[in-house]
Formats: sequence, C-alpha cells, structure tokens
Amino acid sequence: MKICSKCNIEKAFNAFYKCRTHSDGYGSWCKECNHKRNQSEHTKERNRNYNRSPKGSQVRKKYAKSKKGSIIIKKALERYRSTEKYTEYRRSYRQLVRVKKQ
Ligand SMILES: [Zn+2]
Repeated sequence: MKICSKCNIEKAFNAFYKCRTHSDGYGSWCKECNHKRNQSEHTKERNRNYNRSPKGSQVRKKYAKSKKGSIIIKKALERYRSTEKYTEYRRSYRQLVRVKKQ
C-alpha cells in the first residue's frame, strides 16, 4: 500500500503508475489524481503550447519515426477516423473545397 501525496488516500500499488525515478518504483500521485490533472484546462493548454513549439514538433517527429511511436500514432488515427467528429470534419472540409473551386 502507498499513500497518494495528492489526495492522501492509501491505495494499493496497482493504483499508481510505475515510475523509475521513485525509490519504491511508483509515482507519488495515484492514477486517479494523475488523470484528473491531465484533464484540467491548464494542462491541456500547456500541452497545446508545447506541441506548437519548435521543441515539441521536433520531439513528435522523432516519436513518429520510432517503431513504437508509428504503431501508436497509426492506431490513434484509425480510432479517430471511426469517430463522429472525423466524419463531420470530412464533410465540412469537402464543402470548403467545393466552395473554393467555384
Ligand atoms: Zn490520489
């Protein structure tokens, strides 16, 4: 068992993400707290800014070229293409192209 330093609740080790930099091999925040933090607007905004920065795009390009990265990106793209959001995007894009041609 381990106490989460964010919510102060004692949880089993499988409720924590593994983290090599910690002496016990697990992160100090539980999965739930990590998830909440990742969903916050602050973090989303920070990630957006990072992805747009030269360093961020360099890291992403490198990741996309790696074996692991290319597989994960391909899967994420397939998942995205099966969503309603993508269908909607395709529809509006096609309309946009049609308008430009006229
Ligand atoms: Zn927690």
